[in-house]
Amino acid sequence: MTSPTRPAPVHAPMDQFPIENGELLVGGTSITRLAARVGQTPFYAYDRRLLTARMMALRAALPTAIRIHYAIKANPMPALVGHMAGLVDGLDVASGGELKVALDAGCVPGAISFAGPGKRREEMSQAVAAGVLLNVESFREARELADISARTGWRARVAVRVNPDFELKSSGMKMGGGPKQFGVDAEQVPDLLREIGQLGLAFEGFHLFAGSQNLKADSIIEAQKQSFDLALRLADHAPSPVLSLNLGGGFGIPYFPGDPRLDLAPIGANLAEIAAAASHKLPKAELVLELGRYLVGEAGLYVCRVMDRKVSRGQVFLITDGGMHHHLAASGNFGQVIRKNYPAAIANRMGHQVEEGVSVVGPLCTPLDLLGDRVPLQVAQPGDFVAIFQSGAYGPSASPSAFLGHPPACEILI
Ligand SMILES: *Cc1c(COP(=O)(O)O)cnc(C)c1O
Repeated sequence: MTSPTRPAPVHAPMDQFPIENGELLVGGTSITRLAARVGQTPFYAYDRRLLTARMMALRAALPTAIRIHYAIKANPMPALVGHMAGLVDGLDVASGGELKVALDAGCVPGAISFAGPGKRREEMSQAVAAGVLLNVESFREARELADISARTGWRARVAVRVNPDFELKSSGMKMGGGPKQFGVDAEQVPDLLREIGQLGLAFEGFHLFAGSQNLKADSIIEAQKQSFDLALRLADHAPSPVLSLNLGGGFGIPYFPGDPRLDLAPIGANLAEIAAAASHKLPKAELVLELGRYLVGEAGLYVCRVMDRKVSRGQVFLITDGGMHHHLAASGNFGQVIRKNYPAAIANRMGHQVEEGVSVVGPLCTPLDLLGDRVPLQVAQPGDFVAIFQSGAYGPSASPSAFLGHPPACEILI
């Protein structure tokens, strides 16, 4: 509960997109002109310059020994993945479909890794043929991979995805620790490593992914330290030296009022210590981080148009042509426990004072179709553009686009 004396928390400043003549600019173009160029609303716009700037800032903050991979799951738009492929050291995929996107983007197969529970045999066959690293998540996967290798003569490259014996604290989404469908429990990994050796698979290392959307540097540091220690213990059971140690990611971005920006400096310092220890304890290992939303989330906007303005018993509703069918996460239905508002603005009235609390909704016949719940915005009329910030990750590909039969959103990279 917010105490009455304390001011209500606000969103972190969304100053990544410049403003000119009262309009938000994406890739140097105003929203009005961009909407005309796209030829429709709603659309998602991703800014190349911001993607590149984010990667450069991250490289500057982390030791050079750290390899940075992009987890395509966050945004699989082919043009964006193509741009990212030129910036990062590798791509992480989680399906045969994502594998195709990564290969089409021109990523060298040696720098692609494939994780995810319940991999189908066809997907594993494709991955072996492509020569990518498979993060094995069960004994069954290891055995099928050995069978695929025996039939084709192509030796499967494998790492073990470990379900650690700890959790990433303060994470938006926990994906390791306790009982989980992801990876193999740390206690069972020595047995799996023995089997991998007996099966003749090309063992390359470990993958640990504790969780997602974390804004606390201390929690991330603690998880990375524990992941490294666990990998050292497990390496004693490995059939060959560790070539790759994926320490996960989890770097978050500010979505909601009160969310800070993640402080990279202490994370960089801790990774430098880990890299120094690794250089003699796991001398052949590359250290990898895999990041999704942190790389792309802040570079994207979702833009929809106000169709109607309605006042219902004193509450103003902006009814737009966009909604949860395009942007499930902004509607609060993508894993949030308590619904909170994404940062938003009336993109063609940026100079104007923020004057009223409005509810931004979409055209779907469900009260869940809510993009902003009594958000303070500039006074808007039909024809104006609503922009939702922090929309570069988990947008269209994570939304129920067929729900209610409205047209899909367009995506552009500019
Ligand atoms: C989802 C996922 C990611 C990306 O998570 P972000 O929160 O977008 O950084 C990375 N690795 C694995 C294994 C994942 O499942």
